Amino acid sequence: MSPRRNRPGRRTASGRGGQGRPQPEPVDPERVRRGVAAVQAWSDGDWMVRAIPAPAATKTYRCPGCVQEIRPGVAHVVVWPADGRGDLTDRRHWHPSCWRARENRTPAVERSRNAPRY
Ligand SMILES: [Zn+2]
Repeated sequence: MSPRRNRPGRRTASGRGGQGRPQPEPVDPERVRRGVAAVQAWSDGDWMVRAIPAPAATKTYRCPGCVQEIRPGVAHVVVWPADGRGDLTDRRHWHPSCWRARENRTPAVERSRNAPRY
């Protein structure tokens, strides 16, 4: 008489469950919570760009583009070098429009010099 049904708890059905046992995945929950960054290739290198939705913007930052403050509650982007130059403390918070307009206001790396024209 053994009152406890001790099941080994193996559902051998399809093997894809693994229920109740959160397996360590490469997904960092913190990263998911804060949003996913995407690499953008610019003429001055690759940049990681992460959109910060308004509810997640809780501090005041200064946008390097317009040198204005980004107030809490304002959606913006966080940008940092993607290729390991600098480090993770080297992030910048930008207004999205300032970030996109960045190349226009930099004194022009002429990219057209290889462009054949005839
Ligand atoms: Zn700005």
